[in-house]
Amino acid sequence: MTTMDGTATQKGLTVALDGVSFSYGEASFRFDAEFEAGRITAIMGPSGSGKSTLLNLIAGFETPDAGKVLIAGVDLGDTPPSARPVSMVFQENNLFAHLSVEANVGLGRSPSLKLGDADRAAVTKALARVGLAGKEKRLPRELSGGERQRVALARVLLRDRPVLLLDEPFASLGPALRDDMLDLMAGIHAEREMTVLFVTHQPEDARRIGQDVAFLDEGTIAAIGPADDFFDRSGPDAFRRYIGDRG
Ligand code: ADP
Ligand code: MG
Repeated sequence: MTTMDGTATQKGLTVALDGVSFSYGEASFRFDAEFEAGRITAIMGPSGSGKSTLLNLIAGFETPDAGKVLIAGVDLGDTPPSARPVSMVFQENNLFAHLSVEANVGLGRSPSLKLGDADRAAVTKALARVGLAGKEKRLPRELSGGERQRVALARVLLRDRPVLLLDEPFASLGPALRDDMLDLMAGIHAEREMTVLFVTHQPEDARRIGQDVAFLDEGTIAAIGPADDFFDRSGPDAFRRYIGDRG
């Protein structure tokens, strides 16, 4: 696929978990799910329900005790995170504190930190896309929290993977900034059509950009389906109670 400015990008791929089981001592998880190519799924559920664990298994930061993680039908086995067709953004600490914005974004393309002219041009373009034109030489500490998350998104653009995992990326931002970031995210998704799994505690955020919802409870996916089924038609009881608790 090609964006409006002619840059080739990779379209989303299906993500599947087939009989995946995993545990941290007492906490055990069992995931069976298929996330459709090119859609945004909001991952919701109480603290400790396994949202981060689900993403970490897909990203390869954790390895299933049994079962498979498949992308476009290909079993990722023990493929390390860097070789998976996946990128991930966390709530914080996405950036290397001692590296410039340019170097942090450039890592999306060149792990060696050696940026050629083409890499540098791509970094400049990605920074402009996320609203940070001209901030190449700044250090992360010279940016606001929202700007740092924009840098993390610019790196995702350079990495250009068909699957994007977002673990509460905007949770530490205020509501107005969060809305801006969600709009930016939705715009990038419309251009690239990657498969996005977006963990959020905010029902309004899930509603705003989620096409599907997966509701996690006690280490498993208790319900999954179109966002309208969860929000307009009130969804499963456990989901309604969860939303009510947060009301
Ligand atoms: P969520 O993201 O939904 O809040 P997590 O996936 O982070 O939930 O955690 C699910 C459960 O696994 C929790 O009970 C948590 O304490 C446990 N857990 C998560 N990460 C680790 C870890 N690295 N070591 C041990 N236990 C962990
Ligand atoms: Mg978490």
